[in-house]
Amino acid sequence: MLNIVIFGAPGSGKGTQSELIIEKYGLHHISTGEILRTEIENRTKLGLMAEEYICNGHLVPDRLIIDMLGEIIDKSTNKKGFIFDGFPRTIAQAQALDTLLKSRNDSISAVLYLSLEEQDLIHRLLKRGEESSRSDDNMETIQKRLAVYKEQTEPLKEYYLKKGELFKIKGNGTIDEIFENIAEVIDRLHVSI
Ligand code: ADP
Repeated sequence: MLNIVIFGAPGSGKGTQSELIIEKYGLHHISTGEILRTEIENRTKLGLMAEEYICNGHLVPDRLIIDMLGEIIDKSTNKKGFIFDGFPRTIAQAQALDTLLKSRNDSISAVLYLSLEEQDLIHRLLKRGEESSRSDDNMETIQKRLAVYKEQTEPLKEYYLKKGELFKIKGNGTIDEIFENIAEVIDRLHVSI
């Protein structure tokens, strides 16, 4: 199985690149942000719990996210593998993911880290906020999300570096250029799918 974690700050292009990866490699896309937004739209119990955290730029508590993810992985019938987009965002989530995959005799194949300067991230997120209706793409919440990213998510770089799973990808350039670099890394992994 090919299990990819796509990692990077808000606005680094995780969602866009995930779509291209899925198209080429047929992986099961798990975007925790998207799943949570659907839960909110459907006014589910989880959605109602998550809404306030998301609107304020905070992370949804680990327990809720880890349980949600465990259920999705258990139900999945995809045999090729997963792409984790927006997860893990904390060390506790990363450890939970390792445990979940291990229980299926599986593991992470690569963590693709999309690296981009903060000013570019802010520019992209503000533009997305103008074009879409995402309630968290406004200046105040963007600043909060970037601070939360630095404090809680960035330490994962070290975590995955130590495990030899981190691959840094330049997050600026055209969508196709970035994807070319990603595909090159994936193709070099020699994982059977
Ligand atoms: P972005 O990467 O642009 O911030 P996402 O769609 O990945 O967008 O996430 C939007 C929001 O959803 C986050 O700011 C956070 O509140 C919540 N969220 C998504 N994934 C997680 C996660 N793994 N753990 C905790 N909260 C999450």
